[in-house]
Amino acid sequence: MLKYSSSTTAQDGTTLSPDQVIQQARQSFQHNQIYSIKQRIAEVKRVIEYIRLNRESITDELTQATGKTRTDALVSEILGVLDNLHWNCSNAKRIFAEKKVHTPITLLGKSSHIRHEPYGVILLIVPWNYPLHISLTFAIGAFLAGNSVIIKPSEHTPMPGLLERIFSTAPLLASCIHVIYGDGAIGQQLIDARPDKIFFTGSTVTGKKILRHASELVVPVDVELGGKDPMIVFEDVNLQRTVAGALWGAMTNAGQSCTSVELLYIQRSIFTPFITQFKQAMEQLVINTGDQGNADVGAITTNFQAEIIQEHLDDAKRKGATLFSVGQAISASSRLIPPTLITDVNEDMLIVQEETFGPVVCAIPFDSEDEIIRLVNQSPYGLSASVWSKDLKRAKRVSHALQTGAVSINNVMLTEGNPALPFGGVKESGFGRGKGEEGLLAFTRSKAIIIDKQSGKKEPNWYPYTLKKYQLFGELIDALFRQDWLKYIKLALVGGKLEKTSQQNRGD
Ligand code: NDP
Repeated sequence: MLKYSSSTTAQDGTTLSPDQVIQQARQSFQHNQIYSIKQRIAEVKRVIEYIRLNRESITDELTQATGKTRTDALVSEILGVLDNLHWNCSNAKRIFAEKKVHTPITLLGKSSHIRHEPYGVILLIVPWNYPLHISLTFAIGAFLAGNSVIIKPSEHTPMPGLLERIFSTAPLLASCIHVIYGDGAIGQQLIDARPDKIFFTGSTVTGKKILRHASELVVPVDVELGGKDPMIVFEDVNLQRTVAGALWGAMTNAGQSCTSVELLYIQRSIFTPFITQFKQAMEQLVINTGDQGNADVGAITTNFQAEIIQEHLDDAKRKGATLFSVGQAISASSRLIPPTLITDVNEDMLIVQEETFGPVVCAIPFDSEDEIIRLVNQSPYGLSASVWSKDLKRAKRVSHALQTGAVSINNVMLTEGNPALPFGGVKESGFGRGKGEEGLLAFTRSKAIIIDKQSGKKEPNWYPYTLKKYQLFGELIDALFRQDWLKYIKLALVGGKLEKTSQQNRGD
């Protein structure tokens, strides 16, 4: 396994340039092509077992590196990643298997197949908010597809040695997945070294930079970017459960999830009772970092993110919003931002326009179904959403009309809880899909294969082109695409004539 730091000195003492890192990953890709999907799955099962047995110590490292609560670390990171890896192990063989597909009558006698082949070297650039879950879910999907992988963790949550320890339980996997520590500049140098595909998860601003960079080198990229997720609450909901769902959706991981509820749209007739209950529920929240599993909302992971959240709150207050907060910042250095509900917001406020990524949520009343669809679809983002209503027909209608990559109905942030579902956004939330069948196939290139027999026969569309053939092709088109019962008789007749003509040489 390669270990590389931003100082270009590897942890094992050798010095490697990003070019060399990519070259070594390419060699490991070539070398490891002999291993079957069955062998790869066996390696992943070892990783699952390691994480299962070491979950408490891994949770310690996660909470120390991020400041998140212990339950957020255990459930969103460890349970989340194990669930994905387990699903991958059960489904990868079927998904990556070569598939036989239909061959049309015009290609009679041939058979057609799709092979899902690995790209080679996959570069994963990952953010700091779910450092274990995002790195492992994607890296292992790419490994199962047959690739070598380079993970560039965020410099803010490197957790040096953790991924390497997890991988070391599975020697083949360890030789295929390389962790390269460093900042954004190292990310750029790795892109310059031309990996075969880049999977970027992070902010929309950085995502756009990476797209520009990779386009110069013609390297394909999938981008999972930021969001400003709405939760839409109609007046016929069970208030208590919906309030509980909204609170969790807004505050889990201290709001540092790409699919956190940032905009809470509530139908006007229940706006006041909803807000009253939401505030009461907020007052029950336990805010702490370094807890033993009994705190609800943890810390903001980085100083710069805490500053962005504060800037959004100050801007909203200045522009006339009403803020309701619970808990006090224990100390500036703890980065514990008090959970905050914001009402009386308007379109000019940063907190409405931009991703805030903190334990804060704006509540906005709406009147009609049409209005709410229009409001949500105005957003430049489109990651996920939730729609809450007893009327499932209405909830489904709205979910179909929303321009987002995912919608949970009567639940929140739930699509990402099912490893079988694809994950990804639309508009400025990115493109490409991680997870599920589509997510695994994203680590492969499809290769089309068609098999014909060895015989003396020439194809009708091969030379020579003659007037007779031209006329027969016209008749073939006419027969092939007619809609009545004569189709098959005509096809048989013209097919026979074409076949005979095709075996003749010019002048015969
Ligand atoms: P950033 O975009 O700041 O960073 C993401 C990664 O890119 C980090 O590893 C970072 O390195 C690296 N990076 C920064 N600049 C460059 C560059 N020019 N070239 C190559 N790599 C670079 O995002 P954050 O880490 O702040 O993560 C939060 C964001 O991620 C939020 O917007 C959130 O919504 C989004 N996100 C999206 C998800 C999705 O699936 N759609 C899931 C999770 C988060 P370094 O940190 O070392 O500077």
